Amino acid sequence: SEISPVAEKLFKVIVVGDPTVGKTSFVQRYVQNSYKKDYKGTVGVDFALKVVKWSETQTVKLQLWDVAGQERFTWMTRVYYKDSRGCVIMFDLTNRNSFVNTVKWKRDVDSKCRLPDGSPIPCLLLANKCDLRQRQVDQLEIEEFYKEFNFIGWTETSAKEGLMVNDAMK
Ligand code: GDP
Ligand code: MG
Repeated sequence: SEISPVAEKLFKVIVVGDPTVGKTSFVQRYVQNSYKKDYKGTVGVDFALKVVKWSETQTVKLQLWDVAGQERFTWMTRVYYKDSRGCVIMFDLTNRNSFVNTVKWKRDVDSKCRLPDGSPIPCLLLANKCDLRQRQVDQLEIEEFYKEFNFIGWTETSAKEGLMVNDAMK
């Protein structure tokens, strides 16, 4: 009997946002279902691979680019954004400034990278640390914001508690 080959697609997905919003914690939660209190900020880029069984015949591999440390110094270079097919822009619900800065991240992504057909790459807005109570951004504001700046969607997440991590990435 013949075994049908499983089609595999590889997509590069970049994760950006201000320092300490939880990018590394989110990626580690998504890829390894683990959470550590401290991920030492290595300088450079960490890669993580997530294999998603999309259907009986289709497997999707997401290569997640987790910017590590570099975000403190400057906006990302074109090399970092090159060939990415999706983007997560993250802020920390308890840090208003990180929310304000998502505009800059979105503009940076839009100005430096496009899909092969020339359209902007899909960006998901994630409001992390929803397990904490001292919020500085309210939901109505995020709802208006994500529409105005053409994100494909937004949701609250908690990398710590593992809330909405898989659902968001789906
Ligand atoms: P990055 O700089 O954006 O990669 O952020 P990290 O993943 O290193 O996280 C920065 C700090 O926030 C660490 O102390 C994490 O433990 C903490 N953190 C990350 N995600 C969450 C979360 O969902 N909830 C809470 N309470 N803390 C979080
Ligand atoms: Mg990090």
